[in-house]
Formats: sequence, C-alpha cells, structure tokens
Amino acid sequence: MEIINPFEVKGNWYKGNLHTHTKNSDGQFTPEEICEIYSKANYDFLAITDHNRISDEIRHTRLLVIRGVELQPEKFHILGIGIKNEFYTEGNTAQYVIDTINKNASLVILAHPYWCGNTSSELLQLDGYIGIEIYNNVCQYLIGKGYSNVHLDEILQSGKRTFCFAVDDSHSEEHIGGGFIMVKAEKLTEEDILNSIKRGLFYSSTGALIKNLSFKEHLLSVHCSPAKSIDFIGYNASGKRFTGKDIEGAEYEIKGSEIYIRIEITDRYGKKAWTNPIVFL
Ligand SMILES: [Zn+2]
Ligand SMILES: [Zn+2]
Repeated sequence: MEIINPFEVKGNWYKGNLHTHTKNSDGQFTPEEICEIYSKANYDFLAITDHNRISDEIRHTRLLVIRGVELQPEKFHILGIGIKNEFYTEGNTAQYVIDTINKNASLVILAHPYWCGNTSSELLQLDGYIGIEIYNNVCQYLIGKGYSNVHLDEILQSGKRTFCFAVDDSHSEEHIGGGFIMVKAEKLTEEDILNSIKRGLFYSSTGALIKNLSFKEHLLSVHCSPAKSIDFIGYNASGKRFTGKDIEGAEYEIKGSEIYIRIEITDRYGKKAWTNPIVFL
C-alpha cells in the first residue's frame, strides 16, 4: 500500500501556479509584470509556460520563478515545467514531445484534457506524464470546460497512477487566482518544489483548503475549511459523499475494493480542493 501524504512529511506549505502565459505568447502581461502580480497576490512560486517558447530565466526578489513551456502536438496541450536545456519538438507526435520534455525538464503535465477534447483512452495511450490538470481556470472562465475530473477517474480506474493539478492558465488579469497548488517542501527552491511535486506532496485548490489528512487502521480522515460536501471517490461506485452546512472534516472507512481514493471538497461558494489519489495496491 502506498500512501502519499504531504501532511506527514516535514516542511512548509508553498502556494503556486504552474500554468501561466505572458506577452511572449498570447498573454496580457510581460514576464516581469506577471511575476509582480502573483507575488503581490501572495504566491510563492510561478511557472511561466508560454506556447512554443521556453521561458527565460527570471530572478524575482520574493517569488520563485520556474521556467516552463506549453507545446501542442496533435490534439494535446502539454506542459514542461523546470526546463534545463533549450529543445525543439516541432512537427512531432505527442509521445515524442513528452519524451523530449522529460529529457530536458523536470515535469510533464497534460493540460486541460476536457477543453482539448481528449478522451481518457487517448490520454492512456501516452506515457511519461506525472499528472493531468483536474482544473484549468481559463477553460472554465471562457467556456465552462475547466474540470477534467472524469478523465482523471478513468485514468485511475485503468490502473495507471497520475497526479492532479489545479492551475490558472492565466492569459489576462481576470484568470489570475482561480486554480493553484499547495506544495509541502523543505525550502522554496526550484529543486525542492519540483521534487515535492514529483512525489505527490501537494494538493490542488480553487479556494478551499485542506488542513490535515490522515490514514490509520483503515480510516481515512480529512480536515478542511468549512465545506458543504466532502467526497471520497474511488473505483467505479466505491466511495462516499458527506454533506452538511460548513462541515470541517469527514472520516471514511476503507472497504478494500476501492483501489484508489481521492478526496474532493466543495464549499458553499463552489470553491474546491482536491487531494492527489491515494492508491491502495
Ligand atoms: Zn493550452
Ligand atoms: Zn496555456
């Protein structure tokens, strides 16, 4: 059994957004301006992921800025986060792009599958990504296709492990602050943040907060900011929903048939938080 629990490792919580555009592609702000905006909004780190352009190195006094890119092979949009070298993938397949990013960057994330029209079986044909975007703020803002939770469950049901990310994909001011991750890491350095993400030591949010997660003797417990529903979601029809007025936690007894459980929290304003899947194999 593998339990990845950021609440049980040492470190500090850092808030960040892994999907951001600037004037170097189709964004409203320069890289320097967007860093200042996120820094003022109390973010700790930001990945700049312009279309087809690897971001330049930026040193900001407070915000950790991570180099990234967004590439669009076939019908996929793919993020490379933590670029180490320049690279080119034009005209190649999605799998080639993923493999090349993996050689030259730290993380590969499949962006907004719902918005792209990707089916989960298409996502399952690809290998080498650490997660998919469960929530993309600009896709929600523009056409109401921000949530890819069904894609995530179908991938997990097939037995493949993957993490989930909430991101802004901000192109302009009104997209900022809608989707973010909270990462548990020792220090605010690129190495520590990316290593923690690779290990699944983070959760995703559009505003709801997870305060604790624990697993003891078949009981999985979560504490969170006041919520109207807490869903424990597992394989097929396994799992359970807890509802109430501003409930601040729930406890679920593992039956043994779930294969995985992920927790989704929704508050009275519709703000959500998602744990990564906890896989019981
Ligand atoms: Zn995209
Ligand atoms: Zn994008």
